[in-house]
Amino acid sequence: MTSVAERAAQVRERIDAACRAADRDPGSVRLMAVTKTHGLDVLEEAYGAGLRLFGENRVPEAAEKAEQLADRPGLAWALIGHLQTNKVARALRFTTELHTLDSLKLAEALDRRLQEQGRGLDVFVQVNTSGEEAKTGLAPDAVEAFALDLRPFSALRVRGLMTLAVYSDDEAAVAACFTRLTDLQQRLRQLDAAPGSWDELSMGMSGDFELAIAHGATTVRVGQTLFGARPPVT
Ligand SMILES: *Cc1c(COP(=O)(O)O)cnc(C)c1O
Repeated sequence: MTSVAERAAQVRERIDAACRAADRDPGSVRLMAVTKTHGLDVLEEAYGAGLRLFGENRVPEAAEKAEQLADRPGLAWALIGHLQTNKVARALRFTTELHTLDSLKLAEALDRRLQEQGRGLDVFVQVNTSGEEAKTGLAPDAVEAFALDLRPFSALRVRGLMTLAVYSDDEAAVAACFTRLTDLQQRLRQLDAAPGSWDELSMGMSGDFELAIAHGATTVRVGQTLFGARPPVT
């Protein structure tokens, strides 16, 4: 059995190699450990291995874990699953970055609560680059208008874009999803009135993180390669 620490070191090495191959600084890519479905023992092992950004997709599960691990210095929680407005308050108790902003209704709910608390939140706009119906996120051609509509929500620090590529062995099809996101990033950067830096691209998972890095990913979200297969969801 390979330990989480060994796997984390291997993943970090693969990230660094992918950065070198793409002529990028290895420090420019963050590794998010996707801890969804795993128990506290696994999360503690991940923390012990030096992983400091955990990604979770369900608020109740994440909130509970964050509470249990509240005393770990430097540990940050990212939400990478669809967020319903009725869970905003609970999510904001532990989340420092939301990767799935996909509606104005959600932007409004987040901003209202954050304004009350006098703080901001890092957010990524989720884009459905594969066109698959089962996936959430905005259609690529809706993102520019959406970005402009985010102007009133000053508590949202718009960091960039997030996507899930098509799940496929066809590398060209996966790469096309990443290219759609980088094309959008270029357009948004030229859109003067859009709030946000648009510097960040959250893309790449266990099966495709090296390809994502070749296309400019700044955060890769890795679960199975670090922790093995996830227990079935019940
Ligand atoms: C589960 C999940 C991941 C991690 O996927 P792996 O294949 O386990 O690496 C990444 N991003 C999102 C949005 C996820 O839901």
